[in-house]
Amino acid sequence: MIAMSDRAGAPDSLDLNRVRADFPILRQTVHGKPLCFLDSAASAQKPQVVIDTVSKLYETGYANIHRGIYKLSQDATEAYEGVREQVRDLINAEHAKECIFLRGATEGINLVAQSWGRAFLREGDEIILTEIEHHSNIVPWQMLRDEKGLQIKVAPVGDDGALDMDAFAALLSPRTRLVAMVHVSNAIGTIMPVEKIIELAHAAGAKVLIDGCQAVPHMPVDVRALDADFYVFSGHKIYGPTGIGVLYGKAELLDAMPPWQGGGDMISTVTFEKTTYNELPQKFEAGTPNIAGGIGLGAAIDYVRSIGFEAIAGHETALLDYATEKLRGISQLRIIGTAPEKGAILSFVVDDIHPHDIGTILDREGVAVRTGHHCAQPAMERFGVTATVRASFAIYNDFNDVDRLVAAIRKALEIFE
Ligand code: PMP
Repeated sequence: MIAMSDRAGAPDSLDLNRVRADFPILRQTVHGKPLCFLDSAASAQKPQVVIDTVSKLYETGYANIHRGIYKLSQDATEAYEGVREQVRDLINAEHAKECIFLRGATEGINLVAQSWGRAFLREGDEIILTEIEHHSNIVPWQMLRDEKGLQIKVAPVGDDGALDMDAFAALLSPRTRLVAMVHVSNAIGTIMPVEKIIELAHAAGAKVLIDGCQAVPHMPVDVRALDADFYVFSGHKIYGPTGIGVLYGKAELLDAMPPWQGGGDMISTVTFEKTTYNELPQKFEAGTPNIAGGIGLGAAIDYVRSIGFEAIAGHETALLDYATEKLRGISQLRIIGTAPEKGAILSFVVDDIHPHDIGTILDREGVAVRTGHHCAQPAMERFGVTATVRASFAIYNDFNDVDRLVAAIRKALEIFE
């Protein structure tokens, strides 16, 4: 029997019943219990409209893009390029060509490291990261550091997981060429003060890359208002398909950067003596792209915008507040990450019970959470743990999901104590 929340009927500007009905996966049971999905920070579930858009494309509209003279190809090209305009509008980029389609955020960061970093960074140059970055915003810079003799400096977070702004500012120097920072931490939920960071970094003459994986699905992002030089996100976290993501870069930066991968589409002319390169965005999009993924991402963006970020943020913040209060009521539980500004992500440890054991018991209750280091081992080390249990919320979660999480944790405690 699922406990009904005291908040289940709370007024809410988001039509939760309708939203939940849009996600067919939520209708299934897991180990005999209705699925309670609390792992959207890893990857979000897909609304019917995204599933339908992708299958309809394959049924009636599929062909390779950019090259075909025939109608099917031209229509698919138009649909795919239309999504680039949707992305431009979503993040308020100035030009659609500044939005490069790639596999995801990981590929976007690697592109910046390998293209911009290799071309413009020199021995002794410094890159500032933070203690709570995802591995995808650490490892590409280490690879570049080892190749070019760079220095990586790490800005610390306080015990609550908020960035230590004084320590960050003290790391900036005339040698700082890049600040690469998460917008919202996937591991502990901290929302970084990226606007201020970008201002300080620019004043020091550095460029800024923001990893927006956990921001774009949950809040309005305006790359021009932020004045971000580079901004990356993955489609699968904003209810779109896997294998599609976006690197935004200011046109003058992308124009000056050498191509990264070579192949079809990214060229203008090829002879064995010399190749000339295509313009943006194709210069960075070698090979047949994820056509269906891109078009599916367009459906996801439309879907999210039809709900609206105000309603989304209001709902998810209410879930976070409710869940935080409920988890604080469990004395054996320690929340990791209590910054004043947080996304709807709750990381925690329970006594000395291994997070994987908690996760396994939760799974038996139909509650899907992530356990482990969340691809952020340095963040775990900062808080003296090797792993946490992480519950992350999305538009389709309700207060009943929180109650089920809490009940399942209490059950785990009974089993282990
Ligand atoms: N950065 C953050 C903050 C993330 O949450 C993730 C995904 N967990 C990534 C980067 C990497 O994204 P992807 O695997 O889609 O490239």
